[in-house]
Amino acid sequence: MKQFDVVIAGGGPVGWACALACARSLTSGSAAPRVALIDREKVVETANNDAPLSLRVYAVSQRSITQLRSWGVTFDDARCATMDRIVVHTSGSDEPALTLSAKDARQSAIGAVMEHEALTASIVSAALSQGVLRIAGHAVSADLVGSARIVSLADGQLLQTKLVIIADGRDSALAPTLGLEAMSRDYERRGVVAHFQVNKPHYGDARQWFLPDDTILALLPLPDVGGAPAVSMVWSVGESRAAALLAMSPDALLQTVAAATHGAAVATAVLHDAVAFPLSLKRMSDPVAERAIVVGDAAHSVHPLAGQGVNLGLEDAQCLADLMSHSQSQSMDPGHALLTGKYRRQRYAPTLGLALTTDALARLYNLGSWSTLKPVADTGMRVLGRLPAFRRMLSSAAA
Ligand SMILES: Cc1cc2nc3c(=O)[nH]c(=O)nc-3n(C[C@H](O)[C@H](O)[C@H](O)COP(=O)(O)OP(=O)(O)OC[C@H]3O[C@@H](n4cnc5c(N)ncnc54)[C@H](O)[C@@H]3O)c2cc1C
Repeated sequence: MKQFDVVIAGGGPVGWACALACARSLTSGSAAPRVALIDREKVVETANNDAPLSLRVYAVSQRSITQLRSWGVTFDDARCATMDRIVVHTSGSDEPALTLSAKDARQSAIGAVMEHEALTASIVSAALSQGVLRIAGHAVSADLVGSARIVSLADGQLLQTKLVIIADGRDSALAPTLGLEAMSRDYERRGVVAHFQVNKPHYGDARQWFLPDDTILALLPLPDVGGAPAVSMVWSVGESRAAALLAMSPDALLQTVAAATHGAAVATAVLHDAVAFPLSLKRMSDPVAERAIVVGDAAHSVHPLAGQGVNLGLEDAQCLADLMSHSQSQSMDPGHALLTGKYRRQRYAPTLGLALTTDALARLYNLGSWSTLKPVADTGMRVLGRLPAFRRMLSSAAA
């Protein structure tokens, strides 16, 4: 049986970031890899290829980008768009209620929009060069046997590890096998995603409309496509509206988006057929079991209205990096209960805070639950949005 210090199950951006974080911290004199990642999907190479932009794009915060760069991750600028401002409109008003900016955050940018595949491939490349062993396969269980976890793969392989990190995404099948329970709520909303060519430069603005019909429309800047400016839409709508948007002709979809934004966004072509993702809230009350930690969407997934899902998972990886450095410097077992307990304490408040904030905003602006409070919230946002100190605080939190 192969033996490791840390085995990660799940090869999304968060799983790979955790693998990189652990491998950087756990150096050893021997050539044998101490960190392995089980990945059931092929890594999609995006560098130096002119494949069309994938529909799965994320707003990655400047803090996450800086963290990943400091770990040796390099990004393909041709497939990233810098985000300089977040402009929020409420109640169908043409005047922005709130503008968050890189200037207010005292950063060079609020972040960058990049594809899931490009982000993951960049992290994979750094992790492999740091000595992480990639094991292709499907993890089925991670049983505690004595002072180790034995991870079983569907093809019969067994891996022994001192610590297992579960990163198998929102529909995690592995976390429940550890006896860990999650609270989840289906928002009964869909995120309808499409890429558009637009008639004028986006100047790095991510724009968001909290619309009077209890839907939320966001347009994220994309890198130019075929020399023309482009944006990516995420429109959080009810299920029947999502079906109607998906069934529309490209022209009808463009007109519907132009009407919803009062002509602020004039899209000239649909670059990719729209698709819809289910939206839900999920949170594990405790993401830690003996010699096991659950990270990323497997532990906490949030409404995408704040564009923070992947950033929250990358913060999990940062926390692991600190713990593994501590384990290395103190010659401690990486799965020691003191370390996993520290992870639980450090990640509790930030993950709960984001879940509560995004859930409250979703109830206010997407689910129609607190309609009487909406005018108050709109006014509050407009008034606070005029206060430089408030804008600086929110801009720094977003960047
Ligand atoms: C419409 C929409 C828009 C979003 N926009 C944003 C945004 O702008 N910014 C942002 O930060 N976030 C955004 N998110 C959230 C983001 O998609 C997630 O937070 C992110 O994908 C979480 O990464 P992860 O690595 O935890 O999980 P995933 O990306 O789901 O990766 C899990 C991986 O584990 C693998 N896996 C699963 N089971 C097994 C197994 N048994 N064995 C081996 N491998 C396994 C899967 O194949 C997959 O590769 C959005 C989400 C939605 C739905």
